[in-house]
Amino acid sequence: MRLVSFGPAGEERPGVVAGDDVIDLCAVSARIPRTVREILAGDHLDDVRAILARAGSLPSARNPLGAVRLGPAITNPSKIVCLGLNYADHAEEQGKSAPDSPMMFLKGPNALCGDGDAVPYPPGVEQFDYEVELAFVMGKRARRVAREDAYGYVAGYAVFMDLTARDLQAREKQWFRAKSTDGSGPLGPWLTTRDEIADPHALSISLSVNGETVQASRTDRMTFTVDYLVHYISQTATLEPGDVIATGTPAGVGVYRKPPRFLAPGDRLVADIEGLGTLSCRIG
Ligand code: ZN
Repeated sequence: MRLVSFGPAGEERPGVVAGDDVIDLCAVSARIPRTVREILAGDHLDDVRAILARAGSLPSARNPLGAVRLGPAITNPSKIVCLGLNYADHAEEQGKSAPDSPMMFLKGPNALCGDGDAVPYPPGVEQFDYEVELAFVMGKRARRVAREDAYGYVAGYAVFMDLTARDLQAREKQWFRAKSTDGSGPLGPWLTTRDEIADPHALSISLSVNGETVQASRTDRMTFTVDYLVHYISQTATLEPGDVIATGTPAGVGVYRKPPRFLAPGDRLVADIEGLGTLSCRIG
């Protein structure tokens, strides 16, 4: 099942994809909360499944996918936890070895945007860079979860981009400004529920800039896996329904290319993860 947040920025409504259409869940049932995050928190996925099962009889709630704006798959999560150096090939391109324990930072929810959105080029930045990542979204509150139980807390997966101001990252000790510029976290195009992805560590992952493939790897090159991360993070910080965990980027980012390649206004980015769809944005 593929869940979307659709509609104008800041006014997104929850939907479920049925063929080439989005079904407006709130138009079908008054029981459905107004955000995907609340659908997860309130354990309404079975209600959404029931609506999807009768999608054919709901013509007035259907909107063609091509006619709606898709916002970030999750709007306003309590946190976006990002992994650094989590792919062996990305560590290699920096001449570093994989870390002994997960290296993590937060990205602000203001960074989130949807498929096809324009990402403002951050003022004063000269080295704006791309990173494609597999994100997973929490379905339940997770506190001190055992690794063997971890997948039961995961709602599903989405494509994510962790756009980064490398000059700020190099210059400033903390990464908040480098990683949280407005729109620097496209997330989508939808949330694919966990039941549809047998193994999140067996997926191809790629990114192109203006049609040229710049990152191409597989999620089995990840060092710290989804189940370990749920376990590890939840030992010290409670994960809430709707929280987004971005699992790090593979090799090929602009800053380590020779010569370096940074983004410019007008660039079009297309990210793809096997089974999760294609997520695009343009640098505005
Ligand atoms: Zn990243």
